[in-house]
Amino acid sequence: MKILLTGGAGYIGSHTAVELLNKGYEIVIADNFSNSDPKVLDRIKQITNKTFVHYEVDVSDYNAFEKVFIKEKIDTVIHFAGYKAVGESVKLPMMYYENNLMATITLINLMNKYGVENCIFSSSAAVYDSSVARLLTEETPLSCTNTYGYTKLMSEQIFKDAARANPRLSIVLLRYFNPIGSHESGMIGDNPNGIPNNLLPFITRVAIGKLERLSVFGNDYDTRDGTGVRDYIHVVDLALGHIAAIDYCKEHKGAIAINLGTGKGYSVLEIVHAFEKASGRKIPYVFTARREGDVDEYYASTTLAKQVLGWEAKFGIEQMCASAWNWQKQNPDGY
Ligand code: NAD
Ligand code: UDP
Repeated sequence: MKILLTGGAGYIGSHTAVELLNKGYEIVIADNFSNSDPKVLDRIKQITNKTFVHYEVDVSDYNAFEKVFIKEKIDTVIHFAGYKAVGESVKLPMMYYENNLMATITLINLMNKYGVENCIFSSSAAVYDSSVARLLTEETPLSCTNTYGYTKLMSEQIFKDAARANPRLSIVLLRYFNPIGSHESGMIGDNPNGIPNNLLPFITRVAIGKLERLSVFGNDYDTRDGTGVRDYIHVVDLALGHIAAIDYCKEHKGAIAINLGTGKGYSVLEIVHAFEKASGRKIPYVFTARREGDVDEYYASTTLAKQVLGWEAKFGIEQMCASAWNWQKQNPDGY
């Protein structure tokens, strides 16, 4: 069975590629390397001792992307391709709408034209109105605080409409919580350009000596230690969630949204301490002002994922932090 991974050279895509190859799936990667390094392709091959086809292509470019569908008989698409930096999305909203929405629309048009029926989409907990509840179920009201979140919410709607219009489609909208960590080999990992926006890559760069100290955004939240609480999930668990979704697609039609999280929240300070324990490095930090748009605390309801995908996260916070450090230590300058 051939699985097309758009954005398959990225952080989550590369980890999913490894798990798919290990399970014997044939994969095809389509990526324009706008936020990834082509070296990742060799790393995936080295880890798995397997090979695969890749296309350097912008998936929002209909004519260019169509060549992939002409050449490959695709069974299922996992659609990772998109821009993901929240702050940048607020500064450059048109760039985000153009890339993320056009990629989704182009993909669905090509799936319809070439009779590809199954698609798993990288959505996000950013689609929830996280000010209304801490435990976010798939029924929690949806609302966004930034352009990035809106590109996910709008893409979800586009997929739902496509599934209503074409009853042969099977669409799983996976709402990721906070993916962190790396493959146990330390050969692939989260490799953001410039100064990281997300907590874990920032911490690993402090640990490796590239950044001086962490700014903890706010210590007056209504949480157990005053710092923000999130649901961090190991990227390998997340990757395995996609494989469960491939199986689900075989048996179901329509569109469904499903959370991928652990159901457990950790505060920023708890993450700092878990990382210090896993790495043996001290992480200097200062408290600074809250970051605009952040909320106190939220974590995933995991019931639906267990029920319909038969999937649940296995890795604990220690393994998440240890593997993030293993990647950074082995690749102090990234790929
Ligand atoms: P990433 O940036 O590492 O990977 C995305 C990949 O897509 C990159 O390799 C990039 O080069 C590629 N890409 C972007 N636009 C493209 C286009 N038009 N054509 C072809 N390739 C294109 O990001 P990631 O962390 O692996 O995230 C994967 C997906 O999951 C994204 O859609 C992201 O929004 C979503 N997501 C990520 C997180 C997270 O915290 N990492 C959380 C929730 C959702
Ligand atoms: N955070 C922080 N300092 C940083 C980056 C993040 O204190 O340099 C906090 C942030 O306020 C939030 C948590 O860490 O409470 C996770 O933030 P991240 O950006 O990784 O993910 P988000 O949940 O915002 O998508």
